[in-house]
Amino acid sequence: MTLSIVVVGAGPAGATAARRLAGRGARVTLLEARRLPRPKLCGGGLTPKAQRLVPLRALETVERRVHRLELRGGLLPALRLDEPQAEIAMVERARFDLALTEAAANAGAEVRDGERGDGVAEDASGVTLTTRRGRLRADLVVAADGDSSGIARRLGLGGPAARHALALEVDLPLGTAPPVDTAILSFGVRGGYAWYFPKGDHANVGAGSYRETDPRVLRAALDRFARGLGLDLTDGRIAGHWIPQGLRAGPLASSRVVLAGDAAATADPLFGEGIAYAIISAVAASDAIVELEAGRATDLRPYDRRLRTLLGPALRRLELAARAAEPSMTLALGTIRLSRGVREVAIDVIAGRRPPFAVDAHCELACTCGIDHDPPDGAACAPPCPHQLPNADAVVTCHAGPGSQLACGSGSSPFQRREVQLAA
Ligand SMILES: Cc1cc2nc3c(=O)[nH]c(=O)nc-3n(C[C@H](O)[C@H](O)[C@H](O)COP(=O)(O)OP(=O)(O)OC[C@H]3O[C@@H](n4cnc5c(N)ncnc54)[C@H](O)[C@@H]3O)c2cc1C
Repeated sequence: MTLSIVVVGAGPAGATAARRLAGRGARVTLLEARRLPRPKLCGGGLTPKAQRLVPLRALETVERRVHRLELRGGLLPALRLDEPQAEIAMVERARFDLALTEAAANAGAEVRDGERGDGVAEDASGVTLTTRRGRLRADLVVAADGDSSGIARRLGLGGPAARHALALEVDLPLGTAPPVDTAILSFGVRGGYAWYFPKGDHANVGAGSYRETDPRVLRAALDRFARGLGLDLTDGRIAGHWIPQGLRAGPLASSRVVLAGDAAATADPLFGEGIAYAIISAVAASDAIVELEAGRATDLRPYDRRLRTLLGPALRRLELAARAAEPSMTLALGTIRLSRGVREVAIDVIAGRRPPFAVDAHCELACTCGIDHDPPDGAACAPPCPHQLPNADAVVTCHAGPGSQLACGSGSSPFQRREVQLAA
């Protein structure tokens, strides 16, 4: 690939796009405004589908794996689930994002941290970004600069997200009260939930909602939840950030610029899960660039439709699920408690066994994580799947027919094995 590409933002979306594009031979500059490793407000919970989409070295930053889940809310007693298929890997974002960025650098991307992309101007032959070090000219730009994407704003892209949730979080020392092997979700917050995610030496405790966007109200909900767990919020520093969800209403691409991750509001409207969706959008963004390079597209605008087709249906289903549960959490959690079928659907969503994450139907995802797979109807992947990414720490190969359980990986450490359930 002869193109020069600037990727703005070294979160999961930007680091993934940079890794994929550099791996294909593009000249990639990954600009990150802050010095790395940089903290990022986030629960740091990686669902199985997110775990499948990242290089193995990023999984080495996992501090704890949790497959016990406690759901609270409504009038019923807490529902305890033990679901290895939905195991959440807990990471600290500073280390996790650094590992993703290192993978991009190993694939050949030039990483420039502590350098903010300020001005941006697009013309017929390229894009000019301004940073404190001067001007940077590129053929194309991937804007993965997070929720408040300055690039999108300056170019008139993006616009309002379908939902905008506020989330407050705090890191607290691991106490003896809440169990360290259980993640707790409490749906006592209107239009959202509170969480307790145990990590290495601390727990991340937070509350997010798209309805309670007054920080004082959300803070009171967080307070109640923490007290109920026997935790003291004054042991940590509370901070808040927005999670844009359900895609943005305006264009997600111009001729030479695509929005990925939070910049495109790719997070899910039920759990506010953002990492897996940000990575998928980065895969779609880099595929749009590959299409352009190959002469199968004349510019990057088809990405808008591609991303909406890829993520839109799943995000809308999750939003519907959130709306259906809202009027009565007692009923919603009661249904989950009584119906194995409903639980299965929820676990499928978390595990990534449904579109857009079901591996077989999506060559680009399978290719990203180097998983051998059978495209539907025996068709070949187009573009062909490289299978081995240059930055992969280990060559991961899996062989099995549809519906069977796969163990992938070459190492003996649990971080080097990935369980993948192929779509039936
Ligand atoms: C409190 C909270 C808890 C969450 N918990 C979870 C969770 O447990 N699991 C989950 O999957 N998701 C969670 N999310 C959502 C998740 O954090 C985001 O969806 C995800 O980080 C999006 O990734 P991204 O790469 O698009 O953006 P980001 O991770 O925000 O990365 C954007 C990067 O761009 C950089 N940047 C910004 N402007 C510029 C510029 N002009 N020039 C250069 N660089 C720039 C930023 O410094 C940043 O590093 C949570 C979010 C919040 C707020």
